[in-house]
Amino acid sequence: MAEDNKRAAAARRQRIQLLKKCIILTVVMVILLPIALCFILLERIQSMDKTLDSLFVQVETLKNIVTEQEERLKELEVDSVTVGEGSARAGDEEPEPSEQDRIPLQNVVSGEEVSGEEESSEAGQPDTDHDLPEDTEPEASAAHKVYLTFDDGPSKYTDDILDILDKYGVKATFFVVGKDSDFAREAMQEIVNRGHTLGMHSYTHKYSEIYNSLEDFAEDYEKIHDYVYEVTGVESTVYRFPGGSSNSVSDIDMQEFADYLDTQGVRFFDWNISSGDAGGKLLSVETLVKNCTKDIERFETSVILMHDAASKSTTVEALPTIIENILALEDTVILPITEDTELVQHIQRREKVPGD
Ligand code: ZN
Repeated sequence: MAEDNKRAAAARRQRIQLLKKCIILTVVMVILLPIALCFILLERIQSMDKTLDSLFVQVETLKNIVTEQEERLKELEVDSVTVGEGSARAGDEEPEPSEQDRIPLQNVVSGEEVSGEEESSEAGQPDTDHDLPEDTEPEASAAHKVYLTFDDGPSKYTDDILDILDKYGVKATFFVVGKDSDFAREAMQEIVNRGHTLGMHSYTHKYSEIYNSLEDFAEDYEKIHDYVYEVTGVESTVYRFPGGSSNSVSDIDMQEFADYLDTQGVRFFDWNISSGDAGGKLLSVETLVKNCTKDIERFETSVILMHDAASKSTTVEALPTIIENILALEDTVILPITEDTELVQHIQRREKVPGD
């Protein structure tokens, strides 16, 4: 009897033990599981937080890129329109010398004028292996050689300009900037295909970047050089400084940049005749024609500055008359800039001779 009681008591104790274990396990589960879940969720939240952060950063970066592109687009569209020569430092736009500036410069440059007998070669056919189109023989002996140059393109007017040049059978020189678009690529290729000279006019056209240091200048130069080569296969060897070599924007001596171009085998060209279309005011066709043609007979070599920019509608309108008037001048030819073209530069180079 007593043994039965003992066994029953032992069995009860066992059941109680089991029950206790179950209760403890349940309690542990009830307490620990939510805590564990909390930890897992916390970790999830943290990692999502990080993802969110990086997404924010990406959005910000994209926003910046969009803003930059918009600014750049605006700048290229309005290039030079909104700027007179004086505002260039602030606005990063091109301070082409005004007409008043031009005359003394022209005199300086004209002092170095050389008879261009050595200018000889073939008509400017597109020649992607060779650097530049070449002059035709008969034109080499002309008393007055005129070089039409268009800066800041390509633009929506490039095609019109090319058609006008084709119509008169003359070749010109386009100093392009780095416009990274299918349209610009096609226009650059078209310039080359139609036998014109493709020159470089910096990639960004931003004075604050280009003229900040020699390193920055070299970087920008390489960018436009490689871009032109990548798009057209042309190894361009002519350059025009934004604002010209006589710009008053650069704190660094322009000779240093010119020396750098020497090391790249590149010659730079300024101008001795300005159409005047760089200013903010849209000039009339009559004024442009007069500016472009009135001094040609004074020079053996005339490099005329014009702009191929979206805002320069009257330059395109004036171009046919400009060409007609030039071709009507005695013993005068219109040529693309080639390796034989007499240099027209605003700054007097020290010791080193460009093109060496
Ligand atoms: Zn320019």
